[in-house]
Amino acid sequence: MLGLYVHVPFCGKICDYCDFSAISVPESYYLEYLDLVSREVSVFAERHPDALGKVETLYVGGGTPSALPSELLSRLFETLRSVGVPLSRLRESTMEFNPESCDAERLSVARSYGVDRVSLGIQSFDGELLDRIGRSHRAGTGESALGFLTGVPGLRVTADLMFNLPGQTLDGFLADLAHLMEFPLTHVSFYGLKVDPRTRLGHRVARGELSVDEDLYADMYRRGVEFLASRGLERYETSNFAIPGQESLHNLNYWRRGEYLAFGPGAHGFFEGVRFHAPEKYAPWRNYVKSGCPRDLLDLDIVDGEALAAELIQLSLRTSEGLDLEILRKNGKNVPESAILRWEREGFLVRSGSRIALSGDGWLFMDRVVEDLFCNCVPYSNLE
Ligand code: SF4
Repeated sequence: MLGLYVHVPFCGKICDYCDFSAISVPESYYLEYLDLVSREVSVFAERHPDALGKVETLYVGGGTPSALPSELLSRLFETLRSVGVPLSRLRESTMEFNPESCDAERLSVARSYGVDRVSLGIQSFDGELLDRIGRSHRAGTGESALGFLTGVPGLRVTADLMFNLPGQTLDGFLADLAHLMEFPLTHVSFYGLKVDPRTRLGHRVARGELSVDEDLYADMYRRGVEFLASRGLERYETSNFAIPGQESLHNLNYWRRGEYLAFGPGAHGFFEGVRFHAPEKYAPWRNYVKSGCPRDLLDLDIVDGEALAAELIQLSLRTSEGLDLEILRKNGKNVPESAILRWEREGFLVRSGSRIALSGDGWLFMDRVVEDLFCNCVPYSNLE
């Protein structure tokens, strides 16, 4: 399946913990961005005349795509349509909204171009916590946006929460989740805060002004998973939960190693066996586009051999589908029985046919399990 990701890098205000490719700039930049992204997409369409017509899922993410005023949003979708992206026939079309810029006008534009799924960044309903991590919206704004979106007929809505925030308690996180599930959601994501030392939040933690209780991380994750399961939302990826059938097709394609095109600063894509991304900072990306999108300014990574095995193990084990050992073998690698048995005995892995998947606290120790399985990988012809 071929997906398409478009990165809109703008945010009204940069959150204190943000380590994404996001910038806060005057709105005059928005027009330039639209011109540049249109050129980037057009250059790709000239080089690969058939590709964009084969796109099956679209994800407009950021940054904050809903920071764009409705007429510019319309231009963004028009650009995609003009190069043959079949917007009205996609299997799934998602756009990210932030509560402060979630309004009927923008949604109506997005819907008119086929958007059938919205991802809303709530993060928390606790106003103090939102302030502490430098979010620009208020708790009530999040509630209003959720109420509005979940009332739109035929629109699939997913919401993001964060946990392990500075000063957050286990009860506080569970209260956020419970409040979230008062809205008729069929998909939820939650992410533990990772403090990047280069961010404002990282500096405050380093100065001792704020602290994160790492001991709470595992409890919050376990209890969050249990709570959502009790509401019928199953974990299908380490941070993603859905009523069966409501999983994100676009994101599943990433984890299944499907291909996807990507446009915008720092957007990561995977096409014709090559992983790539354009310059992440806005100014170098502008230069890249203005110079005609030369391949030598892209970061390119041909994934084969060891890297392919590592990627298969890592991406597959993020999902509840797990790793199909037959696919690994077809790619010339195998995980010895002894390595699998060790994790099975710990209760961290389960086996079903040719598949292995994380279970229990294996989800919390995913990196350890992945690294161990990869390090123990043997060429398929040298099986023990
Ligand atoms: S809304 Fe998201 S992308 Fe924008 S600054 Fe906050 S964390 Fe970063």
